[in-house]
Amino acid sequence: MLYDISGDLMNIYDMTYKKLCDFLTENGEKKSRAEIIFDALYRKGITDLKLIDIPEKAKKLITDNFTTPEAECIDISDGETAVKYLFRLSDGNLIETVLMRHEYGGSVCVSTQAGCNMGCKFCRSGRLKKIRNLTAGEIVSQVLFVKKQTDNLSGISVMGIGEPLDNLDNVLDFIDIMLYPKGLSFAPRKITVSTCGIVPKIEELKNRDFSVNLAISLHAPDNEIRSELMPINKSYPLETLMEAVKDYSEKFNKRVALEYVMIKNVNDSTECAEKLSRLIGNSKLYVNIIRYNSSEGDIYECSDFEQIMRFYDVLKKNNVSVTMRRELGSSVNAACGQLRSDYINNGN
Ligand code: SAH
Repeated sequence: MLYDISGDLMNIYDMTYKKLCDFLTENGEKKSRAEIIFDALYRKGITDLKLIDIPEKAKKLITDNFTTPEAECIDISDGETAVKYLFRLSDGNLIETVLMRHEYGGSVCVSTQAGCNMGCKFCRSGRLKKIRNLTAGEIVSQVLFVKKQTDNLSGISVMGIGEPLDNLDNVLDFIDIMLYPKGLSFAPRKITVSTCGIVPKIEELKNRDFSVNLAISLHAPDNEIRSELMPINKSYPLETLMEAVKDYSEKFNKRVALEYVMIKNVNDSTECAEKLSRLIGNSKLYVNIIRYNSSEGDIYECSDFEQIMRFYDVLKKNNVSVTMRRELGSSVNAACGQLRSDYINNGN
């Protein structure tokens, strides 16, 4: 079992600093113990709660109520630039986490749900419907596991299986735990949340006082193509989405990435590139061009290299900032949900 939840014990990795302080004070303990506990869990990497350096009475309170479940990794596929881990949750659900190796260090891509309900036609994660949200602690455990595998973990992408904004409360707790200065102490600019575009939740994120990086899975320059690829567009069409994204970018004075996966004869024409340029206008948004990663039985295929370059050139001519993601992950089936669905399809 991934999460060894014994009896009614709570997962200590679910606790934000504030929640832990509240728990301590409600149980007659000093809230200053929370700082020591965070230091032990996240800086010293202590997994045996008995070893935390707090007075016996406080320690008993913690050990009587909490556990430190560790991630159970059941498969690893190691590529040149990315390593993918398959984890089994305590209830048997499978999730994936990817460590991407960059020249400057590693970054981890975490899953937020078992399955996904967004139904994007090109995405393999969506073929397995959402079973449940992950708890904050289950997302934290993915980071802690991967952190042990690399010397220098510098960034977190909330871009694995699931739609993070469909599990916003737990994702916000997760981010809170990652940011806590006396714990892992990630800077908000080192965390990127990727969404298919649930507009009211983007607004909720905008009303927070911290500003993580935002990436929008756009993948189309007009409503017709986008609604065909991504059902969420029928609820929150492009105009509404772009307005929310531009607001987020302006409020935090941040560049926001528009992810654009190149699908042959669907969204890759030069006309699409012109439309995309107009959508962006002179905002601080930029386009991240991604090669479509196809898998068996797919109705789509990746655009030809020449067409990708033509698309890129139009954006450049229109002064749009563009980046092209390296092919990180494709060698280890890291495109969303692939390892997990391979595992399930192989009868495991
Ligand atoms: N639900 C979130 C995060 C998970 S998907 C979102 O939609 O952003 C992570 C990224 O991988 C998204 O940009 C998604 O559109 C992209 N993706 C999904 N399937 C892909 C495929 N077959 N090839 C390339 N990128 C893919």
